[in-house]
Amino acid sequence: MYVPFARKYRPKTFSDVAGQKVAVRVLKNAVRLGKLSHAYLFAGPRGTGKTTLARILTKAINCINPKEGEPCGVCENCIAIDKGTFPDLIEIDAASNRGIDDIRAIRDAVSYAPLKGKYKVYILDEAHMLTKEAFNALLKTLEEPPPRTIFILCTTEYEKIMPTILSRCQRLIFSKLRDKEIVEYLKKICQMEGLECEEKALYEIARISDGGMRDAVSLLDQASTYGEGKVSSSLLEEFLGILSQERVRDFLRLLINSEVDKALEFLRDISERGFNLTRFWDALEEEIRSLILYRSLKEPHKVMEVEDFHRSFEHLPLNALLYLEKVVNTARADARTRDFLRACELAVIKTLVVKDILPITELLKVSKPSQKKEETEKEEEKEDPFDVLKKNLDTLTYEALKRLRHVREGDRLVFYLKEGELSKEDIARVKAVYPKVEFVVEISSEQEESLPPFVEKVKDLFGAKVVSHEKRGKGKGSSGQSA
Ligand SMILES: [Zn+2]
Repeated sequence: MYVPFARKYRPKTFSDVAGQKVAVRVLKNAVRLGKLSHAYLFAGPRGTGKTTLARILTKAINCINPKEGEPCGVCENCIAIDKGTFPDLIEIDAASNRGIDDIRAIRDAVSYAPLKGKYKVYILDEAHMLTKEAFNALLKTLEEPPPRTIFILCTTEYEKIMPTILSRCQRLIFSKLRDKEIVEYLKKICQMEGLECEEKALYEIARISDGGMRDAVSLLDQASTYGEGKVSSSLLEEFLGILSQERVRDFLRLLINSEVDKALEFLRDISERGFNLTRFWDALEEEIRSLILYRSLKEPHKVMEVEDFHRSFEHLPLNALLYLEKVVNTARADARTRDFLRACELAVIKTLVVKDILPITELLKVSKPSQKKEETEKEEEKEDPFDVLKKNLDTLTYEALKRLRHVREGDRLVFYLKEGELSKEDIARVKAVYPKVEFVVEISSEQEESLPPFVEKVKDLFGAKVVSHEKRGKGKGSSGQSA
């Protein structure tokens, strides 16, 4: 009979458990020193080993030949617990509506001594789902804990457990497992099963499982069955309908390099092939965030795993990344009013401006050269703003810009335009290459709507620098609206 990996490779001793160092140490020492609590609360995300540790603890305290706090695994009690036939282990799923009846039954049954082992153990899974009545019944039991009985409450929602219960339990917090811990465990399974696995694919599984070992192990199980003993990134992609991190990064590169055509093609392709767009978009945001983190930190390697991928974007200005993050993030809000694919496409188009965003330092250089550099840059400083624009803009944008009526005040430029005369993207581009520029949209009196959100966003993006410009602009805003 086929035994699923999740059951076959369920940790059987404390030392088998991946991660959860604190919980393991506390419990192992309690067993070794005979300092057990009457009630424990195991709190943490799903699949992080709460019920597994509860069972190991049950074995450790009922084992006939325990060693250093560990269960032997071969005595009849250990075997019975592993098999689920041990009479003194009672597992209750509080999520089922039998919760209250079970708790009442506990109250009646606790007076009986353990049948076979040293301790009777009640494991209450999903303890936060207990009804108020059941909680009260449980509380009565915990107030006068019966001898040689241990309660283990497991929950994913710590804050839903009544404080009166909490105060009677020893609390152990289970954390999500790190990708590396999951991968190490999966590797062991691969070895024992003789599976051919790409490490990349194992990391992919860890990432998708979001810190849950149980999910990771069953995913490996399914994926290896699908791949007939092989687990590779491409097979995983095919199997899950989720793009690999590598492909998500390929897409991100297209966005950063403003290869809009290719990016749109990529999107349509994965959508047609039935990949999960929402998950893809989540993954994309995650990648952008990791780049932002990398670019904002002085010593990024101390808080994150720095990869070549991050280093390859070292030159990219932080504000370009922040802009990208905003655009990608708003697609989700857009998706409420339109199809998700369309929202993503629109976002891709909006990213066009990324390539043109200069680093803040560059922007400052244009508007306010530092004292030291002033001399060497004098010539550059005197450069005609139109030359700067011509040099840094594409021909179409530059030509469109030149057609507009404008006023020059020293090195500042004010353009007057009618709504729609220059696209929002173009305005953003112009501002990016020459920040000392202002656009005044001339509007008729009945047309007093606010700025399109995109322009607002671009304004936000350059907020730090635009402030002074806006202050100055205010005086002459009578004829129009500053953009
Ligand atoms: Zn044993």
